[in-house]
Amino acid sequence: MVDLVEVGRIKGGKKPEIYSLLNTIGDILSRGYVDKPVVVDDEYRVVERRELYWALRIMGVKLVPVVKPANSNIEISVSLESLGFYDEVRGDPVKVYNSTLELLYRGWPTPIVRIRSLSSKGYRVWAKLEAYNPFSNSVKDRIGWSMVKDYIESQGGIPPEIVYEATSTNTGVALAAMAAIYGFKARLYIPMSIQKASDTILKAYGAEVVRVPKSLTVEAIEDVKQDAERDGAVNLNQFYNDANFEVHLRYTAKELDYQLRSAGIVPRGFVIGIGTSGHFSAITTYFRNRLHGSVTFYAVQPAPGDTIPGIRRVETGMKWIEWLGDVEIIDVSRNEAIESVLEIARKDGLFVGLSSGAVARGFKKLVESGKISEGDYILVFPDSGYKYIEQLEQYFEQQRA
Ligand code: PLP
Repeated sequence: MVDLVEVGRIKGGKKPEIYSLLNTIGDILSRGYVDKPVVVDDEYRVVERRELYWALRIMGVKLVPVVKPANSNIEISVSLESLGFYDEVRGDPVKVYNSTLELLYRGWPTPIVRIRSLSSKGYRVWAKLEAYNPFSNSVKDRIGWSMVKDYIESQGGIPPEIVYEATSTNTGVALAAMAAIYGFKARLYIPMSIQKASDTILKAYGAEVVRVPKSLTVEAIEDVKQDAERDGAVNLNQFYNDANFEVHLRYTAKELDYQLRSAGIVPRGFVIGIGTSGHFSAITTYFRNRLHGSVTFYAVQPAPGDTIPGIRRVETGMKWIEWLGDVEIIDVSRNEAIESVLEIARKDGLFVGLSSGAVARGFKKLVESGKISEGDYILVFPDSGYKYIEQLEQYFEQQRA
């Protein structure tokens, strides 16, 4: 009576806003199975439970359980695994890819690794290494791909001619790589406070760089939007574009779920930095439901007056974090973040970026506060240290003085 049909064969009409699907997505994740079928007509057009169809599609199933209208009320119990929910995050063991684009999305999952220097006294700390993304060597490759893919789909397969975007570097590099692959131009606006090396990296990719007299990327949003309108350019706007949240829900969070289940790790908490809040909000949304409240989520922000590239303070306003309600927040200073970068480099042999250092320091502060119980903790390390030589040189000079 129930058919499992390939998701691409089903016609679901216009995609709803992700916000309107969050309850349905939460139900599916917390149950781990689908208890009602999507109802379709003879042409596979969805006639009932459109939210369920779109929630499943956005979460990346291969198959959808469907029935004809006469059977719409039957109850079912079809596991997410049997719908191919985890298939796209299992990774390719042979690692041979047909294009640089495949290198990105078929290269996932990015690894998770136990960080010895942070693990002690009953605390096991696992870091997800987003530097293993191929273009910006950061978590931002995911959203560069997802925002461009969404845009192209919305335009019936036609790429933009030129994209303008405010970025603190990583999203810019990801978009510059997409521009190279899809054959469009990119003009990237970066605040003065960002390291000089970013200009060189972006120019190497063929992008145009505009330095704006601001200290935070978010302060440039309006100007970039106006410039884009004036010039007829596309502004994907990572700060408001739901493709940011969605890609982290469907891939970053689902990958982590798959990796943790496969390794038998049951997390007690997650510690994550917040910039646009895309990956923190999506991972929190996913695991709050999947792990039924037995887990805590901590957001890391720069201490007042400090800048740490890639992350910012929650009161500067973040779209998706506002969907989460109360969030636990930890302040970390720039020097504390750098000290943790150096400690991880010197004890674990891993050279991570400043926001990763902030996340590591945030975790140490939690342990020192005695607030958290022993167990497994998951940290997301957004990038590597190689873009931040300037900041590290300044730090070493400051230490010498
Ligand atoms: N860390 C680095 C180095 C980043 O570039 C970013 C985002 O730009 C973040 C952290 C924050 O990620 P999100 O925008 O998903 O909050």
